[in-house]
Amino acid sequence: MPGLDVRWIHGAPDCALSTDPPLQVYAFDKDTYILRQSKCAHFEAPFLYLLFGTERAMLIDTGAGNAPVRAVVQGIIEQWQAIHDRPGLELVVAHSHGHADHVAGDDQFRGQPGTALVETGLSSIERFFGFRNWPEEAVGFDLGERELTLIPVPGHMDRQRDDHFAVYDAQTQLMLSGDVFYPGFLYVRDGRAYRRSIERLVCFAAGHHVRYYLGCHIEMTRMKGLAYRSGTTYQPLEHVLELRPRHLAELHAAALETMGGELTRMVLDHFILEPV
Ligand SMILES: [Zn+2]
Ligand SMILES: [Zn+2]
Repeated sequence: MPGLDVRWIHGAPDCALSTDPPLQVYAFDKDTYILRQSKCAHFEAPFLYLLFGTERAMLIDTGAGNAPVRAVVQGIIEQWQAIHDRPGLELVVAHSHGHADHVAGDDQFRGQPGTALVETGLSSIERFFGFRNWPEEAVGFDLGERELTLIPVPGHMDRQRDDHFAVYDAQTQLMLSGDVFYPGFLYVRDGRAYRRSIERLVCFAAGHHVRYYLGCHIEMTRMKGLAYRSGTTYQPLEHVLELRPRHLAELHAAALETMGGELTRMVLDHFILEPV
């Protein structure tokens, strides 16, 4: 199966000379957009996701630093509305999790018409999405003829403020896996919770077809087990964004191996398990 047909912006040797846009927009399909922030604008260069249903659109994450996220998102929405003749579309802005490189654009959306910003923090997302038994229970969220499943995946954040969930979209069979699973440093702050989260993703995949796992960063190179140094702003030979079910199986095996007892760092071909 071929991967995503896109060449991501990946920074520049001299960012002063970079002509990259602050956010690259890639249409995965006509209702699914992936945005990548420029590495020259912020080294984290996160990926953001915008999904359209017939009743509402959902933006997952608002970027790092000072990106003009709302302007770009509004542009996509207006174009989509013009084609689909749906002027009253609501925008729900939520987050994979509350780390700073995923929420920086929140102010741009707060209080805007037709926009529901789901504030970060467990109590806020429990209230909005109806989680009743976090983290053991997944919940559905309907965009209008497009049902998403939100799966709690804590373990990457500090325990007191961990609000990380993954998003499965049955329409595209994409699993948006945030900072829990991507080609880079998988920082784990709560090993027990993280292992349960990986098990939860594995169980989910046993009952649903997952085409790709799409996370929020790329930090690996195309060379097996080799990552860029943290903070780099130029990644000409970076790994592809998409991970596959076999990669989740590798992570599962590694998590089972290392996390039963002491947490240890583990370098795998496509990601690095990094307890902190
Ligand atoms: Zn994070
Ligand atoms: Zn992040």
